[in-house]
Amino acid sequence: MSGEATVEIDNLSVFYDGGARGRIHALDRVSISAGEGDFVCLVGRSGCGKSTLLKTLGGFVPIEAGSSVTVSGTPVRGPGRDRGMVFQEYALFPWRTALRNVTFGLEQANVEKGEAEERAREYLSLVRLDGFEEAYPHELSGGMKQRVAIARALVYDPQILLMDEPFAAVDAFTRQQLQALLIDVWQTVKPTIFYVTHDIMEAIYLAERIVVMSPQPGKIHQVVPVGFDRPRDPLDSKVTSLAQDVRDLVFHDLESGSRQEKTRP
Ligand code: ADP
Ligand code: MG
Repeated sequence: MSGEATVEIDNLSVFYDGGARGRIHALDRVSISAGEGDFVCLVGRSGCGKSTLLKTLGGFVPIEAGSSVTVSGTPVRGPGRDRGMVFQEYALFPWRTALRNVTFGLEQANVEKGEAEERAREYLSLVRLDGFEEAYPHELSGGMKQRVAIARALVYDPQILLMDEPFAAVDAFTRQQLQALLIDVWQTVKPTIFYVTHDIMEAIYLAERIVVMSPQPGKIHQVVPVGFDRPRDPLDSKVTSLAQDVRDLVFHDLESGSRQEKTRP
C-alpha cells in the first residue's frame, strides 16, 4: 500500500427491491479502503453481499445518500474504464477472435486500429496467449477464455480490477495455474484487485488482505491480513492454520453442528 487510497468505500448500505420478498438489505454500512496495488479477497457465505459490493464498485448499483464510494478520489457514478471486470461466465463474443475480443473496447473508445492491436497483443502475451490471437472462443479451453477476459479487462490499464469468482468454473488444476498466472500479472502491472471467492485456500493464496463478510444483512465481519511470502504453499502449516481461522470467521454465527455440514462455504 502506498500513497492515497485508490478505493474508498464509506458507510455503504445497499437495498434491493425484492418484489414479493420486500426490501432486501444487501449491504449494511460497509466501510473499507484499499491502496494502490492492493489485493483484497472477499469471502463469505452465499448471500452476504460479495457480488453486490463488487457491482457497486463497478458502477452497476446506485449509491444512496449517506454512502460514498470513490476510486482515486472520484465518486463512482456508473461503469468506467478505470475499473476492469472479470466474471465467472466468460462473456466473450463468440464471433470474435481472442485478439478482436480484447480490441473491442478499445475500438469503442476510438483507439486507432494499429495501436489497439498492438496493445491487445501485449496483454494477450502477458496472460501467455501468444499464438492464440486468431483463435475463436470455441477453440479455447475454459482457462484460456478466462485469460482472454483478463487481458480484455487490463487492456485499458485500469486502476482497479474487479473479479467475481473468475476461476470457479474451471477444473482444480487449471484453477491453480490461473491463480499463479494472476499473481504474476498482478506483480507486473500492479492494479488494485478486489476478488470474490468461495474458496478460502484461494483467498489465502492470492490476497494481501481477506475481508470476511457475514449475511443478513451483508456486512464486514473481520479483515484478516495475509503476510506470507510468495509464492505461497497451500500445505505450509501456517497457511492451513490461517485457513482454519478464516473458516471459523466465515461460520462464526452458526452452531458448531451446522458448521460440520457446511464446511464448504
Ligand atoms: P453474494 O455474492 O455474497 O452471494 P449477493 O451480493 O449476490 O451475495 O446478494 C446479497 C443479497 O442481495 C442476497 O440476499 C441476494 O438475494 C440479494 N440480491 C442480489 N442481487 C439482487 C437483485 N438484483 N435484486 C434483488 N435482490 C438481490
Ligand atoms: Mg456472488
